[in-house]
Amino acid sequence: MKNKKIIVLDPGHGGQDPGAVANGLVEKFIVWELAQRVKEKLAGRNAEIIIVQPSLSNPKSTARDELYKPPQEANRLKADFYLSLHVNAGGGEGFESFVHPAAKNKPADALRNRLHSQIMQYLARHKVKDRGCKYADFAVLRLTHMPAVLLECLFMDHTGDAQLLKNHDFLDGLANEIAYGLMVTLSLEGEA
Ligand SMILES: [Zn+2]
Repeated sequence: MKNKKIIVLDPGHGGQDPGAVANGLVEKFIVWELAQRVKEKLAGRNAEIIIVQPSLSNPKSTARDELYKPPQEANRLKADFYLSLHVNAGGGEGFESFVHPAAKNKPADALRNRLHSQIMQYLARHKVKDRGCKYADFAVLRLTHMPAVLLECLFMDHTGDAQLLKNHDFLDGLANEIAYGLMVTLSLEGEA
């Protein structure tokens, strides 16, 4: 059997850092649920899915721990791919994805573009706005040594987006699309 690909899922925030909070929603809980569901859906694929969140071992982990430790751990594990999951807030609506500016037109960018359009096929059916494929100097994207993508999954302070984020069936469908996107972009075969 071929070596398994190592995929690190980084549900942003945790411990003392809730992330964004609005409309009764808390970012750290939503991205945690998403990460768990993505991992479940990739069971049986030729990949090792590792959720890295410092609050798992230290419930009092700080925002700094949650930001800097996951990329360090992914580098230590020599992961093949890094996916950071977030939910947006601050006045806007929709879905957007990021890679580091230095990754522009590199393999990580192409992987992201495919993953983005796969996820948008699902989100468009729910009338979620496509904010596009973007570039940003986020710490997790800058510090990781492997292709790394950050997803901002809707705005919890937008009424329509929040309604979707409160729906566990919607989150399950989103996780399904993220998992399927990873399968096709990273060519994850079944183990049978
Ligand atoms: Zn966040």
